[in-house]
Amino acid sequence: MKKDEYIGILTSGGDASGMNAAIRAVTRTAIFNGFKVKGIYRGYEGLIAGESRELTTEDVSSIIQRGGTILKTARSEAFTTPEGRREAYDTMRKEKIGALVVIGGDGSLTGARIFAEEYPVTCIGLPGTIDNDLYGTDFTIGYDTALNTIVECVDKIRDTATSHDRIFFVEVMMGRDAGFLAQNSAIASGAEAAIIPEDRTDADQLETFIGRGFRKTKNSSIVIVTESPGNKNGGAMHYADRVKREYPGYDVRVSILGHLQRGGAPSANDRILASRLGEAAIQALMEDQHNIMVGIHNNEIVYVPFDQAIKNDKPIDKNLIRVLNELSI
Ligand code: ATP
Repeated sequence: MKKDEYIGILTSGGDASGMNAAIRAVTRTAIFNGFKVKGIYRGYEGLIAGESRELTTEDVSSIIQRGGTILKTARSEAFTTPEGRREAYDTMRKEKIGALVVIGGDGSLTGARIFAEEYPVTCIGLPGTIDNDLYGTDFTIGYDTALNTIVECVDKIRDTATSHDRIFFVEVMMGRDAGFLAQNSAIASGAEAAIIPEDRTDADQLETFIGRGFRKTKNSSIVIVTESPGNKNGGAMHYADRVKREYPGYDVRVSILGHLQRGGAPSANDRILASRLGEAAIQALMEDQHNIMVGIHNNEIVYVPFDQAIKNDKPIDKNLIRVLNELSI
């Protein structure tokens, strides 16, 4: 990485709390070490269009506590085409951007991997997604904040569920096929069950839950369900409809948390994670690393090749399923 070139930084895919803390960390570490930084707006869309400007240390003042991303984010259809990536590469050369730090989820890092295979560009990825579904890192930026938000919401829903003797199906987001948010928010909020893709066995999860006879000891229940885009046989509405049909005696409600889960001030854990990963991204560039995601494993910074981070499914700890089952009797 030459010091007369810029390090470009962009955020891509869904926004996640802590992205700003990562932008701050990348910018300040780069400047501390004698590099110049350009912020690229609206993800790959802005990279193609050349929407960027130099960032100073002041530009990233007072953003560590803010959710969302000051660089804005976007999903870019154009970048998925060879022509779009050609334009992106031309922009990088024109703007003297020698390396790119991409903060985003698996789609964004897939884009970075393909781009770096096609062109002589150095890309460093940071895991920025509420889904926590990237392999090779224990946590992604934004996950902890989203988890805390869900737990806060479920605590409130619990008051209503208890007051009315109801079953609430609460729908939370999921990445690819990963139910980290659902499983862990269920444990943290004392929910009676979580219906997640990883626990999909031949057994009907709803039958199992009802079959455990939850009504014998409890007069209200919270079931956390992962969203099910495009699949009619999943999601909170589907399970609520089934209960209404199959167990008409129960009073059932649905709450879909949706975009409430994304924003808000990042938790202390997400701020620290983003600061450490952002700093490590520049260290990685200085060590001449390229085409890797910087992650965290057992509280140590790790470099994970893009293909590993993207291609492998991140398994959920099956013990968590047992913990929830045992604690929700
Ligand atoms: P989140 O986890 O929040 O959904 P994400 O990074 O997975 O974030 P995506 O919408 O999947 O979000 O991807 C973001 C962008 O990355 C896409 O809009 C596209 O520009 C780029 N991208 C995704 N997949 C590819 C691909 N196969 N080739 C090139 N670019 C891609």
